[in-house]
Amino acid sequence: MAHRFQSVRGFNDVLPPDSALWQHLHAVAARCFSAYGYGEIRLPLVEHTALFARSIGEVTDIVEKEMFTFQDREGDSLTLRPEGTASCVRAGLEHGLLHNQQQRFWYAGPMFRHERPQAGRYRQFHQLGVEAYGMAGPDIDVEVIAMSARLLRALGIAGVRLEINSLGSSETRARYRTALIAYLERHVDALDPDSQRRLQRNPLRVLDAKAPQTQDVLRAAPTLLDALDAESRAHFDALRQGLEDMGIPYTVNPHLVRGLDYYGRTVFEWITDQLGAQGTVCAGGRYDGLVEQLGGAPTPAVGWASGVERLILLMKAQGVTAPEAAPHAYLCALGEAAQRQAHRLAEHLRDVLPTLRLVVNAGGGKLAAQLKRADRSGARLALILGEAELAAANIQVKSLRATPAGATSSQQQTLTWTELPARLGGLLDSP
Ligand code: ATP
Ligand code: MG
Repeated sequence: MAHRFQSVRGFNDVLPPDSALWQHLHAVAARCFSAYGYGEIRLPLVEHTALFARSIGEVTDIVEKEMFTFQDREGDSLTLRPEGTASCVRAGLEHGLLHNQQQRFWYAGPMFRHERPQAGRYRQFHQLGVEAYGMAGPDIDVEVIAMSARLLRALGIAGVRLEINSLGSSETRARYRTALIAYLERHVDALDPDSQRRLQRNPLRVLDAKAPQTQDVLRAAPTLLDALDAESRAHFDALRQGLEDMGIPYTVNPHLVRGLDYYGRTVFEWITDQLGAQGTVCAGGRYDGLVEQLGGAPTPAVGWASGVERLILLMKAQGVTAPEAAPHAYLCALGEAAQRQAHRLAEHLRDVLPTLRLVVNAGGGKLAAQLKRADRSGARLALILGEAELAAANIQVKSLRATPAGATSSQQQTLTWTELPARLGGLLDSP
């Protein structure tokens, strides 16, 4: 037998009926983003490797060990994007969208990181994200966080909590760095090997370490929040006030840092206890230095990204369902002449009922076989067009499912072709 291929480890298919939940999630997200005046930006999956090294930071998990990097046929080093922010800034600069302007963008799509696959962690995963440029004040931080809160609510997701922190200015972090190194050096033997290595080069990265032994050491470490400069303190206070004004509950987690180097001041995460170690479903913050770091003029920026697979896992765990996606009706046709008429009739029905979901039987078959397919499709009605119906310009309508009112199935009626649209139209808004 020929070799059967399997998908690459960490790269998943999304199949019906799950794909209906994905479609629902994207439709809700697109509506939510446009409700705040954010425009969609579609970015390429591949960028020059240096873009990520320069933006995310050389001494980070992503750049050190998670990127899918390859040489193309010209010998250029390219990378499958591990996140969206770097590409968004690159595109904004390339098209002159960031200089002296305010912009509100959103994006959605696959990201790629070479991590150990497990529930909620994959090598190809998907993010929804927003980015706002040209606004330095805490009001826009509040807006993007409020938008994430609205999105979670609109998706029907409960039981997620918001944690916020401030990483201060780059001067704060430079001062704090010294204090942190001094503290970590006293506990160097208790740190995991990655953290020991990063201690001197990028000690703030140690704060984001996942190893439990390092987490233990960090519990008593000095925090950035204690070292905040006055301006960052005022920004953080106003952010807290803004969240309170909007009625968005949060907790301050002074140990919260993000796994990318470009963040400063505001950082936040939405966390659930329902997905084990993969509990962060949305994360973001302010990255005022990045645009300049990538060759633009200094431009304040803030944004977040949410992991779609984790949102889907949560929605399923919490019993959120997509709007019904099964066909409304399945059209059975018996004989060649009826089959041809069936296609004409179906096209007409789709013209007059644009939201109708109608499957036309293909591949022939006896009535019993066609009805079996109709039943398997999940359709509520089978429409039966045989030679007698063709001659009389009518059709049999057989219900395959109990109605919500509890009426039993297998009721059958005969309708003329002209009566049919009204009968099917009645199905469209019923639950
Ligand atoms: P984690 O701490 O879980 O590794 P991260 O800090 O690396 O997350 P970000 O770069 O902030 O994640 O990405 C934003 C969101 O994307 C995460 O909060 C998460 O929901 C999702 N995400 C990140 N990496 C993965 C992955 N490998 N598989 C699935 N979802 C992911
Ligand atoms: Mg990660």
